[in-house]
Amino acid sequence: MQSQIHPLIAPAPGLALQLASHHFGDAGAARKIYVQAGLHADEIPAMLVAVTLKARLRELEAQGRLRAQVVLVSAANPIGLGQAVLGGFIGRFELSSGNNFNRGFPMLFKPVAAAVEDKLTQDGAHNLRVIRAAWREALLAQPPVNAFQSLQQALMLLAHDAEVVLDLHCSREAAMHVYTGDAIWPEVEPLARYLGATASLLALDSGAHSFDEAHSYTWWQLQQEFGARFPIPHGSIAVTVEHRGQRDVTDALAQQDTQALLDYLTHIGAIAGEAPPLPPLPQPATPLAGSEQLVAGAAGLLVYRAQVGERVTAGQPLFDIVDPVEGTRATTVSHADGVFYMGREVRYVKPGDQIGRVSGARAFRTGKLLSP
Ligand SMILES: [Zn+2]
Repeated sequence: MQSQIHPLIAPAPGLALQLASHHFGDAGAARKIYVQAGLHADEIPAMLVAVTLKARLRELEAQGRLRAQVVLVSAANPIGLGQAVLGGFIGRFELSSGNNFNRGFPMLFKPVAAAVEDKLTQDGAHNLRVIRAAWREALLAQPPVNAFQSLQQALMLLAHDAEVVLDLHCSREAAMHVYTGDAIWPEVEPLARYLGATASLLALDSGAHSFDEAHSYTWWQLQQEFGARFPIPHGSIAVTVEHRGQRDVTDALAQQDTQALLDYLTHIGAIAGEAPPLPPLPQPATPLAGSEQLVAGAAGLLVYRAQVGERVTAGQPLFDIVDPVEGTRATTVSHADGVFYMGREVRYVKPGDQIGRVSGARAFRTGKLLSP
């Protein structure tokens, strides 16, 4: 293992910010896998998985079993790790700007397409190399002006040329689930099976410019632009993995999830060995546009009537909001058959607060799909 330090733009005199990446296997290998955790810095289960994965990768490297270079950023957000307000850890948004750390990544289809259109051939492997080189140049051509942007650039420079990009997160209260692109679902499905994903939410473009979409959607755009004339492979199998809820921090779960990631990497041949048989997918994949985003209609005490991770049916009560003065209750029911895959950990809500999500098979939403 080799570790590299990437200095970020310092937010103030006397303060230094840096990102660490850990590199396993042959740096010149034809294949590259990228894994990061804690882009939302308050999502601890993901970082514990990364720490566990780091130890396992060191063993696999010592055994000579890595068939790809693996780059791991086990604490992907040093800005967020340093933020707190009145004793509360704030890792999802940058305090100074309000920016969500997993939104607004640079979408570089246009400069990459302009740079490669005269260089593509009938050789798909050549096209992969040309596109990745142009992508790196496009990233470097946008100098960051603040710490937030320098973090985004550093992460993209590490990840943009990897064939698999795994962005490890968690939700508030949740069952294991994944987000990924429509076009790459067949490649992601084995990962969802090994992880035991209770929901797999597919979107071409959620409108969020999240880290995984900055990879997978850009490749999809390149395929649309050039695919009729040149072979353009899926250059990046990019997935956001939600390692349950924020308080699901145990070594046993971290080891279970790490094993699932390693089984997937073995399945695709990035690790030598025989992968275990694919387990069944717990629930079929569904469109993110079919996922119901439930918000509180009034302030009150939140009482769940369904379990997170449970399969629910249309009309089934999900939660009550109790008025603490009058004692009245308002019940919200599911509008779809699906999995109640995410809830809210704080049991007092204000109007408009997000309080749950239910996967549904029928797409009905448009626009920004990761927002209510
Ligand atoms: Zn997250």
